[in-house]
Amino acid sequence: MSNPTLHATYRDASQAAGEQVAALQLLLARAAAEPDLALALAQVDTTEMKGALDTANLLVALAEAEAERDLNAGLAERHRRRAAAGAALGDPCRCAHSAATHSPRLTADGLLPCRHGHCGCRDLAFR
Ligand SMILES: [Zn+2]
Ligand SMILES: [Zn+2]
Repeated sequence: MSNPTLHATYRDASQAAGEQVAALQLLLARAAAEPDLALALAQVDTTEMKGALDTANLLVALAEAEAERDLNAGLAERHRRRAAAGAALGDPCRCAHSAATHSPRLTADGLLPCRHGHCGCRDLAFR
C-alpha cells in the first residue's frame, strides 16, 4: 500500500472511531442523567442483535422479545394446567386434540384455543 492510501485508511478509521466515541459519550451522559434509561440499556441483551441500534433494528428486537415473551407465557400456562390436572405429557385436551394442537400463545382473555379444523374448543383443559 502506498503512503497516501495508508493515510486515508487510518484517517477513515480514526473518523469512524471518533463517531463511536461521540455516540458512546452521548449515551453515557444521558444514561447518567436518566436512571430509567441506564436500566433499560443495561437490560438490553445485544447477544443476537446485529448492526446499529437504530429504530429499525430496535423494532426487530422488540418484536422478537415480544414473541418470545408470549410464546413462553403460553407454554408456561400449558404446563401449569397439565400439572394442576395431574395429567401426563401427551395426555390430550378434553376435545381429544393434543396440547400442541392448541395455540401456543394465550389469547387476550387468557385462553389457549384449539387450532384443529372446526373443533371449536375455546380453551385447553386436561380434565
Ligand atoms: Zn381442546
Ligand atoms: Zn380440539
